[in-house]
Amino acid sequence: MNRNDFPILTEQVHHRPLVYLDNAATSQKPQAVVDAIVEAYSHWNSNIHRGVHHLSQVATIHHEEARQAVARFIHADSSDEIIFTKGTTDSLNALAFSFGEAFIHEGDEIIVSGVEHHSNIVPWQMLCERKKAVLRHIPLREDLSLDIEAFRGLLGDRTRLVSVAQVSNVLGIINPIEEIIRLAHERHIPVCIDGAQSVPHMQVDVQALDCDFLAFSGHKMYGPTGIGVLYGKREWLNRLPPHEGGGEMIHHVRWSGTTYNDLPYKFEAGTPNFVGSYALHRAIDYMLSVGWPAIEKHERELTEYCESRLGDIDGVRIYAAGQPKAGVVSFNLYAGNQLIHPFDIGTLLDQQGVAVRTGHHCAEPLIDEMQVPGTVRVSFGLYNDKSDVDAFITALRKAQMMLS
Ligand code: PLP
Repeated sequence: MNRNDFPILTEQVHHRPLVYLDNAATSQKPQAVVDAIVEAYSHWNSNIHRGVHHLSQVATIHHEEARQAVARFIHADSSDEIIFTKGTTDSLNALAFSFGEAFIHEGDEIIVSGVEHHSNIVPWQMLCERKKAVLRHIPLREDLSLDIEAFRGLLGDRTRLVSVAQVSNVLGIINPIEEIIRLAHERHIPVCIDGAQSVPHMQVDVQALDCDFLAFSGHKMYGPTGIGVLYGKREWLNRLPPHEGGGEMIHHVRWSGTTYNDLPYKFEAGTPNFVGSYALHRAIDYMLSVGWPAIEKHERELTEYCESRLGDIDGVRIYAAGQPKAGVVSFNLYAGNQLIHPFDIGTLLDQQGVAVRTGHHCAEPLIDEMQVPGTVRVSFGLYNDKSDVDAFITALRKAQMMLS
């Protein structure tokens, strides 16, 4: 884990060294990823798949090698099960549309959970509106963990799909998706995992989990923006119709009708983000060169260290403290009984060079349930270390003094 691999970390913000603790929103990029983008546009940029000329063939090879690297990274059975998208949101929207067209009818039910990001709520709400189906959600226990007993009760004859986050982007809690998948599969209900906050932080093995779909974003795992993945088991993907039409996704187009391409191209209409996939491949290589044991241990220790240092500050309320987490700590600061607005904290931290996220974190139903206007969220990447936590704590104490 070498901070020097990440050029942006030497930047100054408001004349202070940058302390970047907003990795759940987007991570910074190692030089290898930045170089990959420059290399692609400088040396082999050319549209893929269709060309017989040299550059097109080079670009095609890079794109398909990236697909294979992603498949190995999440242990998919085949690279045909890897669909490149724009990111998690795009993946979930694609699935909601396509699955909805094939399998959702009036009165059917889809289950999400009470901690979901809007990306794993709104596409399903839109589908339910279109098909007159019903969206249910797994309620939360008092400690903000998912109520699995209640989930058992929600599963019924009309349940067609379950879609849950592996890690909450607000709380960092690791949800018991193994159990959720097992319970859903007992009733032959497929499960989609929102891996936006898990894939960057823990080894995700789709075959060991036996999930049916997995969505994640490149930009949260040290790769570029505009590239993401929808994994789907081949048997499911083969049964789903394409969600978009255009070039690449067809076998033949006639006025009498169109036949669709094989997997995965059936779901990749138009020119794909082949520079993004190439740079994502470099990000995966980077993560693997650090190694999962090191990443997971380092981020767990940082999270625990951060919770323990925060716990020393009067008036701090940490949410879901002590629960197994993946690189996220969410809290609020109180002056007596009075909550100090997270936005004020975030602004004062920013003035000291510390970047955190404040607000509802695109999870308004959860924030409503917590009965707060938002939280302050600290989130780690593999390049953060204890000095970042120490700088953040010093800045927070100063902010507290200024606000009280
Ligand atoms: N799901 C979760 C749990 C997230 O944290 C995020 C982004 O923060 C998303 C989905 C959406 O990801 P993207 O904006 O990359 O599509």
